[in-house]
Amino acid sequence: MSRRVSIFGATGSVGQNTVDLIGRDPDAYDVVVLTGAGNIKQLAEDAIRLRADMAVTADEARLDELRAALAGSGVEAAAGEAALLEAADRPADWIMSAIVGAAGLAPGFRALRHGTTLALANKESLVTAGPLLLAEARANGAEILPVDSEHSAVFQGLVGEDIAAVERIIITASGGGLRDWPVEALASATPEDAGAHPNWDMGQRITIDSASMFNKAMELIETKEFFGVPAAKIEAVIHPQSIVHALVGFVDGALMAHLGAPDMRHAIGYALHHPDRRHLPVSRIDLAQIATLEFYAPCDIRYPALKIARAVMETGGKAGCIFNAAKETALDGFLAGRIGFMDMSGIVEGTLDAISSKTSLSIAPNTLEDVLNTDHMARDMAWAQIEQHQT
Ligand code: NAD
Ligand code: MG
Repeated sequence: MSRRVSIFGATGSVGQNTVDLIGRDPDAYDVVVLTGAGNIKQLAEDAIRLRADMAVTADEARLDELRAALAGSGVEAAAGEAALLEAADRPADWIMSAIVGAAGLAPGFRALRHGTTLALANKESLVTAGPLLLAEARANGAEILPVDSEHSAVFQGLVGEDIAAVERIIITASGGGLRDWPVEALASATPEDAGAHPNWDMGQRITIDSASMFNKAMELIETKEFFGVPAAKIEAVIHPQSIVHALVGFVDGALMAHLGAPDMRHAIGYALHHPDRRHLPVSRIDLAQIATLEFYAPCDIRYPALKIARAVMETGGKAGCIFNAAKETALDGFLAGRIGFMDMSGIVEGTLDAISSKTSLSIAPNTLEDVLNTDHMARDMAWAQIEQHQT
């Protein structure tokens, strides 16, 4: 029987890599839903090509356009937030969660409620609502498989191992597009400068988050939440070649590394075929040709996001949710030209401080609604910080 699969965020960078893998073996899959937001042409084309039952755009105003693009194909069209949730109700065996940002949270929760295996690229789900998400999966006997490349690497390093024997987890970072800029020049970096990645081809937001290392900061928190390992055991190291994705260190001193080409189809394919391993169309590593793998410690001045992530991990509770919302808002402010590249960390710290002076951050949100309310409140606070910054 073919497997029923859905892709949330199908038109994005992770989504398109998932479409690519599934499109290579169409008979093996019964595609239920593809979702997107603005890129209607791509969404409709892929839905028709993969013979999906349904295509959903998050943007309600684009429904007519989507309907027109799907006319005569037999693919159902829908739009809006409620339609995204209904799409997550459609029975499926495996769902890719690759919407960017906190918007990816609710559909993932909904899929877990049905016991569906969730391939999780949307790291915001774990950072903002890790304990709730894992509890939802446990309560419904659903599996969550990490798709972030570092977390897939750690997950693979833990196969057959006892988590109690893990002494440390090291995730690698490329250092991003501004890695070789002098620190003093970073304040004047534009979205264009920060949006060019040396090794990975990814969406714009995560690429800029790589340059600021807010992405790695998110991933430190993601590691703590997903693997249940204390913050003190988790490290990030700069590795400019992006060949080693993560390392797991055990109590006997052994360090198991995961190597692979910087191609998201590794992690997506592992989650798609788990627990099996199948052939994947990714380039193979030639160690002699690479010759050198470098590693060095990230500098706190260049990458203040890492220190903030440490504080967030120590606090727990709502801190992750506020951190993510403030960081997404700060990035909006940077993209809009309202603040500079190096101002983003100040906005995030300022938002965490402002909220902690009113309420205890360590009290965890109890429901998804709590999470979304905290998210909205933190976005408002972060915008207020951005406005203050200008005056
Ligand atoms: P992207 O910007 O390329 O694509 C995002 C997708 O989400 C698109 O399909 C877009 O249409 C959709 N979308 C955007 N806003 C939406 C909204 N409000 N509601 C519903 N859908 C919306 O992003 P990406 O780089 O593919 O990243 C997706 C997720 O995967 C992010 O959480 C990111 O951190 C994570 N991730 C990405 C990579 C990568 O290589 N790109 C690697 C690891 C993890
Ligand atoms: Mg990653």
